[in-house]
Amino acid sequence: MKQANFYPGPSRVYSNITEYIYEAYMEGIMSLNHRSGRFMEIMEETKKVLRARLLIPADYELVFTSSATECWEIIAQSLTMKKSQHFFNGAFGEKWHEYASRITNAEGVVFNQEVELPVGRVDAAADVICFTQNETSNGTQVALPTIEKLRKNAGSTLVAVDITSSLAGINLDFSKADVWFGSCQKCFGLPSGLGIMIMSPKAVEKAYELNERKHYNSLAFILDNAKKNQTSYTPNVLGIYLLLKTQTVSKGIRETEKKLMERLDIYEKVMAKTGLLNVVQNPAVRSRTVLAIQCADPETVKKKALEADIILGSGYGPLKSSTFRIANFPAIKTKEMEKLVKFLEKYYTR
Ligand SMILES: *Cc1c(COP(=O)(O)O)cnc(C)c1O
Repeated sequence: MKQANFYPGPSRVYSNITEYIYEAYMEGIMSLNHRSGRFMEIMEETKKVLRARLLIPADYELVFTSSATECWEIIAQSLTMKKSQHFFNGAFGEKWHEYASRITNAEGVVFNQEVELPVGRVDAAADVICFTQNETSNGTQVALPTIEKLRKNAGSTLVAVDITSSLAGINLDFSKADVWFGSCQKCFGLPSGLGIMIMSPKAVEKAYELNERKHYNSLAFILDNAKKNQTSYTPNVLGIYLLLKTQTVSKGIRETEKKLMERLDIYEKVMAKTGLLNVVQNPAVRSRTVLAIQCADPETVKKKALEADIILGSGYGPLKSSTFRIANFPAIKTKEMEKLVKFLEKYYTR
């Protein structure tokens, strides 16, 4: 690939993808019947590899969807009886709340992007507490100590976490919440069109307790099928196969996180040197996989970068005209990162 792509989704895909797509064609994966034994083997193997690489607890269930957005709706339709509560400080969390509001009674709690999520406001009477662990729009994160406090305050209420732009990049402690979900076009370094939902035994139990079965993607159907290593509709078989292949050769989440932290360090040094400022002042709530950088004229920087074969991420939503974003995702090559660092140093040192 000629251009180095730092867009935080859809983002750079792994280079060996072409090889795996060829292999998928030759082995008939793209025409594979999703009720066949071979497909069930692939499903089982993919779940096994994901569990091992991402350190997912053995008693957690893993199901596939089409996108993270679909997971928002599944949680609202199949895990919420009376009410969901949503904490957010950015565009994705806000959208989740908005989508859920159309389906159920969803309370929104907005918090400032410089502060920790206000765990004191958790309503343990809700069916599910929802938040975005890594807010891709403004480059904030909810760190583990906060998730642990939230878990405590939630009591027996389910906790659901959007990890679309940190899943497979950051080592997350899945035991600290009940539903974790994301899609493949961010840290997984894959094409779009595949979502993953990781569920605690308690979440599975609640899905069956509510037993909502009115939709093609009702969670009870999805779980019934997942037990047989099948899916309720013809899934993105190629996407699942590519996930299996790329995760099989991955060194695992601890190594991946280490690599991303080292790169983050390099970015921070360049920013200090050039005077570039992160949108988020408080380092404790700053994302480790998506950097949102303050910028007076993002259009010009992005244009200049493109001339150097670098694609910078645009700002998202209300931050579009005052920021650009850099994805710190695993599939980005060290060489590409170095190229970006050089560009920023040159562009911002006058
Ligand atoms: C990208 C993103 C989504 C949307 O993902 P889709 O696969 O397009 O549904 C949701 N939440 C967050 C935090 C994201 O970064």
